[in-house]
Amino acid sequence: MTTAPKLSFDVQLSDHARTAAEREQVLASPGFGQIFTDHMISVDYTEGVGWHDARLMPYGPLSLDPATSVFHYAQELFEGLKAYRQVNGSIVSFRPFANAGRFNRSALRMAMPELPEDVFVESLELLVQTDRDWVPTTEGHSLYLRPFMIATQAGLGVNYPSRNYKYMVIASPAASYFSGGVSPVSVWLSTEYTRAAPGGTGFAKCGGNYAAAFVAQRQAVAQGCDQVVWLDAIEHRYVEEMGGMNLFFVYGDRLLTPALTGTLLPGITRESVLTLATELGLKPEEGRLSIEEWQAGCESGELTEVFACGTAAVITPVGSVKGADRAWTVGDGTPGPVTLKLREELVGIQYGARPDTHDWIHKIC
Ligand SMILES: *Cc1c(COP(=O)(O)O)cnc(C)c1O
Repeated sequence: MTTAPKLSFDVQLSDHARTAAEREQVLASPGFGQIFTDHMISVDYTEGVGWHDARLMPYGPLSLDPATSVFHYAQELFEGLKAYRQVNGSIVSFRPFANAGRFNRSALRMAMPELPEDVFVESLELLVQTDRDWVPTTEGHSLYLRPFMIATQAGLGVNYPSRNYKYMVIASPAASYFSGGVSPVSVWLSTEYTRAAPGGTGFAKCGGNYAAAFVAQRQAVAQGCDQVVWLDAIEHRYVEEMGGMNLFFVYGDRLLTPALTGTLLPGITRESVLTLATELGLKPEEGRLSIEEWQAGCESGELTEVFACGTAAVITPVGSVKGADRAWTVGDGTPGPVTLKLREELVGIQYGARPDTHDWIHKIC
């Protein structure tokens, strides 16, 4: 086996970067995923050649043939992670090699090429170092990083995967999900639609999963709820996860989360919470929970807290649940102590207020 020569990134700086004043105006109220930094990463893949043309370049539109495969058959995948400005001033990311590994597991499922993990992490480092002034200084804010890969071969043949791909990274400053403290979300139990079936793409972070979810999310909003809770595709009874977050159920000092059966997205926040829980004296377990058990647990008082977790919103309490024929509240509808403790611990590690005993923090600059 020959090893491919190491990719080196060509750097082309923007000649129309935003001024400091323009940037500060964005950073004063960044919202989420609306405004992007001055640069982006692009790396191309050609079958038989491998990855090539790695570059950092000015942020801007792509020009693609209308027959490009991704537009028709959705052969694409993405990742999501953040760069944080720590209390000591350094800029770090959280477990980026875990995202690199998941990116490649998604790629295998989508018949797309794997990207070497060190190229994935180096691409993030280069973009964040170049656009470091875009990493917010406001507490709880961060720079959201969006690596993704698309199939770029032009042609409508549906029998074979694309022979060409493009990997990119874009970055967007993000406000804290919670402007007025940690507020619980209300959830809608989707029994009409399902997100993922056994053998499908539920564990892959591929665009099609989210395209298929919008109709249920719209239904949730029409029902007065913030988010969808997805149930298993076979019995429509067992809790899987939310649209972009995994779920945890707190029974006193016992912490239950749905097991990774292939239909759930294996969240890096989920995995980190499982680790932190043990250290905080909780007993985490991966298992199965039906909506009947969820409701009965809340009514008996045994199930004291429910929370969702993911990179974007960190840890979010679930306050109330609604389904086609049922509705209930979790605890008294306010954030519980286990939820808040885990959140404080995780955020503390990310922003450097707590020691990083797991080597989760990856210093960028
Ligand atoms: C990204 C995502 C999550 C959370 O994953 P993290 O790695 O914790 O950010 C959970 N569920 C779905 C469907 C997702 O897309």
